[in-house]
Amino acid sequence: MIYSTAVSDQVLAFFQQRGVLNEQQMGMLKQVADQQQISALEVLLKQQPSLQSTVDQIVTRAGLEQERSEDSVPDAQQEIVSKPVESRHTWDLIDGDANEQLQRVLGGCIDMDASDIHIDLDEVDHKLVSRVRFRIDGECRDMIIDPRKSIYEGMVSRLKTLSYCRLDESRVPQDGRVPFVHNGKNYEFRISFNPVTKKNEQLEKVVLRQMADVSKCNLDMLDIHPYNRPFFHEAIALPYGFNIVTGPTGSGKTTTLYSVLQETDRSGKNVCSIEEPIEAEVARVNQTQVRHDIGLDFARVLRALLRQDPDVIMVGEMRDLETAETALDAALTGHVVWSTLHTNSAVASISRLIQMGIKDYMAANALAFIVAQRLVQRVCTDCRKPHPEAQRVVQEQMVPAFSSASDAVKLEFEKALKTAQIYKAYRNGGACKRCDGMGYKGRVGVMEVLKMNEAIREIIIRDEGNEVRMQAEAVRAGMMTMEQYGYLKVLEGKTTVDAVLAVVRS
Ligand SMILES: [Zn+2]
Repeated sequence: MIYSTAVSDQVLAFFQQRGVLNEQQMGMLKQVADQQQISALEVLLKQQPSLQSTVDQIVTRAGLEQERSEDSVPDAQQEIVSKPVESRHTWDLIDGDANEQLQRVLGGCIDMDASDIHIDLDEVDHKLVSRVRFRIDGECRDMIIDPRKSIYEGMVSRLKTLSYCRLDESRVPQDGRVPFVHNGKNYEFRISFNPVTKKNEQLEKVVLRQMADVSKCNLDMLDIHPYNRPFFHEAIALPYGFNIVTGPTGSGKTTTLYSVLQETDRSGKNVCSIEEPIEAEVARVNQTQVRHDIGLDFARVLRALLRQDPDVIMVGEMRDLETAETALDAALTGHVVWSTLHTNSAVASISRLIQMGIKDYMAANALAFIVAQRLVQRVCTDCRKPHPEAQRVVQEQMVPAFSSASDAVKLEFEKALKTAQIYKAYRNGGACKRCDGMGYKGRVGVMEVLKMNEAIREIIIRDEGNEVRMQAEAVRAGMMTMEQYGYLKVLEGKTTVDAVLAVVRS
C-alpha cells in the first residue's frame, strides 16, 4: 500500500497522541523515509506489520472525514480502537449506537456459530472500554473493543429490558431469556447478569448463551461411529436400568440425551423429564422444569413423577445424594432412567456415584450403560493439508493406543487404516475464509460407551470400584476408549491428532 504524505502524517499524528510513537521515533522514521523516498508510514509498517489493521481503520475514517470537510483533521481519538488490534477476529468499529451494536452482536453470534457471548468492560490504557467476546468452538475471541463505555451501558440496559430483568438492580445476579429474530427465523438466548467490581465501580458482567435447537436432534446427527451405535439401540430398548451420559460442561451431553429421547418410543411408553432449564420442548415427553425458588428441586419432582406410572425418566442432573439415590432406586424397580454427571471418563462416573454416598451394590446392580463424551475441534475442510508425517503419527501415537484393545476394536482400527486420510490443521492468518484462519471449524463428538457386565459389578462390590481395574475390564470386554474413538475420527479425516490429544488427555 502506498500512502500519501497527508495520510501518513495524520496516521502518525494519531499514533503520537496515543503514545505509540515518541518524538525520537518519529524523527527516525522520517529520516529513513526520506532516504528511501517513501512515506514514513510505509517505513513504520515495514517494521511493525501488526499495525496494519489499525492503520486501515484510521485511513478509512480519515477518508470519510476529508469528504465532509477538506481541512478538518479527523477526530479519531473517540472512535478508533485505542490499542493495536491484536486479534484478527476483532470486528471493525461501527458508529452505531448500543442498539445497533447489539443487533450486530446477536446476529453475528448466530452467523458465526458462537455458543456464548460475553459482554463486559475491559481495561485499556487505564480506561474502561466496552468489550464483546464470542466463544466459538470452545475458545473465546474478542469481537468488539470499543473505547465508548456507553456502548456497554446501552447494551446492558437494552438486554435487561428484553429479558424482563430489573433495570434498577445491579447488585444481585439476574437471569432471563432474550428472543431474537434473525433472517426471518426465531432464536432464543439465555442471559445472566452478574455483579462485578472494576476500578472501584459496581458493574455487571453479561453472558448470553445461544439456545441450540435440540428438539430436532437425533442419533444420526451425532455422527456416532458404527461400532458404538448398537449400544445406544440396546440402551434405548432396555426394560429397566440406569444409563449415564457424562462429560464436562459443554461436551454435548444435553444433545445426546435429547437424541435418545427422540428415538425412544414415546407413544407406547410414558416418557418424562426433569430439567433445569428445559432447553427445548420434545413432542410426547412430559417435561418438568426445576424451580428452586419454590422448593421444586430434582429430588422432589422425581418422587412425584414416580407416582405417575413412568417408563422412561430423564433426570437432567444428579447434584445431590437424594436425587441420585431416588433415580437409581427407580432404575432397580422397573424404570429406565437417563441422567448426566460431570466426570472425565465412563469408569470415573461409577466412582463419583460411590463418592456421593451411593451404596456399591446399588450402583453395581442399577447401572446399564455409561456414555462419556467430549467435543473435539473439526479440521477445516478448506485449508487442511495431508499430514507430512502421517506414518510416524500412526506408529507412535495410534498403534500404542490400540495395543490393549479388544479384537473387535482392533479390527475397526485396521479397517480405518485402509482408507485413512490423516490431515494437519494450519493457522493461516485469516487466509481461509471458511475457518477465519483458525484451521478448525466446528466440532465433532468423541465418546466411549461402557456396557456393564458381571466382572465390572464384581470390581465395584469387592474392590471398591477400583478405576484402573474397571477400565481394564471395560476395554477387555470391548469398550472403545475416547482416545481410540478420537483416532478413528482422525483417520476419517474429520479431526487431527493434536485436537484429539488436547481434549482426551486434559
Ligand atoms: Zn480453513
